[in-house]
Amino acid sequence: MSVSIALVYPDLLGTYGDSGNAAILAQRLRWRGQDAEVLTISAADSVPAGCDLYVIGGGEDLPQGLAASKLNAGQALHRAVDNGAVVLAVCAGFQIMGESFVSPDGHASAGLGLLDCATVPSSAPRAIGEVLVEPSPQWHGSGLSVLTGFENHGAVTELGPGAQPVGQVRLGVGNKDGTVEGAVAGRIWATYMHGPVLARNPHLADLLLSWVVGPLEPLGPAGPLDDSEPDALHAERVERAAAERRGDGPRTWAGKSARWRGWAAGAVRRRGDGAR
Ligand code: GLN
Repeated sequence: MSVSIALVYPDLLGTYGDSGNAAILAQRLRWRGQDAEVLTISAADSVPAGCDLYVIGGGEDLPQGLAASKLNAGQALHRAVDNGAVVLAVCAGFQIMGESFVSPDGHASAGLGLLDCATVPSSAPRAIGEVLVEPSPQWHGSGLSVLTGFENHGAVTELGPGAQPVGQVRLGVGNKDGTVEGAVAGRIWATYMHGPVLARNPHLADLLLSWVVGPLEPLGPAGPLDDSEPDALHAERVERAAAERRGDGPRTWAGKSARWRGWAAGAVRRRGDGAR
């Protein structure tokens, strides 16, 4: 089986290298000897409904509105989700998956209605910087480790009861106010994390892939599946976030510093132990 990965509208929604998420998903399958193809769907193309995985990135307010209206008109993504496709949606992509979104200039748009959430402008300063998230207990045992990313958004997202957050924010703003980040419902994974998020968190790439192909063989210390470089990047980002939390970094986050230091050290250790 060849896994088909649709990269949706990278010409509209592709800030911060989010398109790299599609390449990472495909390559991690190929390294395991599985066929994968990335279909790049530009704004002029019609979106196929039969792909296994859909990747949508972040972007500015105007192209975000255009992407949402095109996806609502075509309904291909809706059909794909009905058929069990996996979706990774980042930032603007996250916002358009919800019921509605209002841009910072007050323009309201209909979302795709695929996630139980709504996005509105924030009265707080734009959320820009490192974000670190401890996955919710439901992900324990799934291979998911602490998640690291970069956020840049002016609007904030409120989840309804039909969507679960990815986890608790340890640094940054996340969905709204520094409490929770992201949204998961069925096989839709939405996040504010750029990075690209799957380059910083290959364990998340493997989790999403496992929803398509089943359990994946664990990574080994040698050979094409050696993850030592992504692991080093992950550890460096977590440590950097700890420094920001302590106040040695460019952005400070008050409180909990002693507890935080212990938690961050543990997160790096847990990852280093290969606790996946
Ligand atoms: N335009 C949206 C906002 O500012 C999303 C930004 C993004 O995707 N980086 O909230």
